Amino acid sequence: MSSPVAPVQPGSELYAITLRQLDSAARLMGLDGNLHRVLRAPKRVFSVQVPIELERGEVEVFTGYRVQHNINRGPALGGLRYSAASSVDEVIALAMLMTWKCALVRLPFGGSAGALVCDPSTLTARELERLSRRYATEVSVLIGPTSDIVMPDLNTDGQVMAWIMDTFSMHAGYSVPAVVTGKHVSIGGTEGRLEATGRGVFISLVEAAKVARVGLEGCRVAIQGFGNVGSTAAALLYAAGCKVVAVSDSHGGVYSPRGLDIPMLLVYRRTEGRLRGVPGTDAITNAELLTCDCDVLIPAADDNQITAANASAVRARMVIEAASGPTTEEADRILEDRGVLVVPEILAGAGGAIVSYFEWVQGLQESFWTEQQVNERLETAMTEAFNAVLTTRERLGTSFRAAAYIQAIKAVADATEFRGIYP
Ligand code: NAD
Repeated sequence: MSSPVAPVQPGSELYAITLRQLDSAARLMGLDGNLHRVLRAPKRVFSVQVPIELERGEVEVFTGYRVQHNINRGPALGGLRYSAASSVDEVIALAMLMTWKCALVRLPFGGSAGALVCDPSTLTARELERLSRRYATEVSVLIGPTSDIVMPDLNTDGQVMAWIMDTFSMHAGYSVPAVVTGKHVSIGGTEGRLEATGRGVFISLVEAAKVARVGLEGCRVAIQGFGNVGSTAAALLYAAGCKVVAVSDSHGGVYSPRGLDIPMLLVYRRTEGRLRGVPGTDAITNAELLTCDCDVLIPAADDNQITAANASAVRARMVIEAASGPTTEEADRILEDRGVLVVPEILAGAGGAIVSYFEWVQGLQESFWTEQQVNERLETAMTEAFNAVLTTRERLGTSFRAAAYIQAIKAVADATEFRGIYP
């Protein structure tokens, strides 16, 4: 099939994989060729140049992107990342993945994504603020509470969201909190947003364990990445009676077959700034963690971690993907052949998008929910989506990942077909 999208550029593996996932799901579900061509193409790809004056007086010009992939199911929702490795292809892929994620968990949103190509570790807080505000101004023709809502992603947080929201509001002349999500509660954010992705991963594990008939009590879990997502999931799993046997950060990790004391580990990490050296634990490398003796593996760090080189050695019976793109296509086939249940990131990592939607709804209604209400509604949304994917998997006899993609793509394709091709 000919692609209306520009050819894949070198270094944009994620884009190539994302298109192949769409093509493969389209084949399995017998998607109409016209709809397939529409879904392959991002609706809008916007590139901006962002000049800012650095503290030393020089002006540097950064490149930024905002991409809206598909908005047939509602306004776009998508992250903003600050990364020196970002490219337009990566942003198109992330926007497409957001379209599928929002559709899969039935949010009335399309998918978008944004990036500023920069290394934030080399910038001062003042420079980051200028950069964020100027980027917000440049993309203000696209973003908005009813057109494209921005949420945090790699190297952006509630502070960056506050600068974007404030800049957008300054241009509007009044406060527009719903243009971003992931903002602090004091400026219209929601309870439960910070923990939402980790909580969604936890809920996915609970549901997957039911399918694999594994009890939670004593279930051995290894988690790669102990950041926002990994540490929240670890704390919830520990509280639920699981044995978290291994956790790691980019410097390596710790392992204990008896189960780690996660509350103690969180305090140790806060005070010592690292995981290595926790009393009563063994050191473990990130590579060893992926193949350690456990029932569940949660990659919650980087992409490309489970590959053809280590997939055969993975001992877990379930993989709950929290990171974006942690499993390569070859590894996915190997895990599938070995009967490992893989819950894909578009489902397991959807908690953040779901609670972003809750934040948006609360902001527009100017009526706010308790943390318990947020968490209960998150659990309902995640378990309903999980069970719908299970039904699709059983009906079509596909992998869990293929079923998730087919279900998401069908929802977007249906909306596109009902609306028709304008004019
Ligand atoms: P974070 O920056 O808070 O934490 C990342 C953790 O991974 C840190 O402990 C870091 O030391 C570790 N790490 C980084 N590279 C590593 C490597 N190569 N090997 C082992 N450990 C490594 O990030 P986060 O918000 O927890 O996100 C983690 C992953 O989840 C990312 O892939 C992100 O895209 C994905 N994700 C996050 C959200 C969200 O709402 N935060 C939503 C969906 C998906």
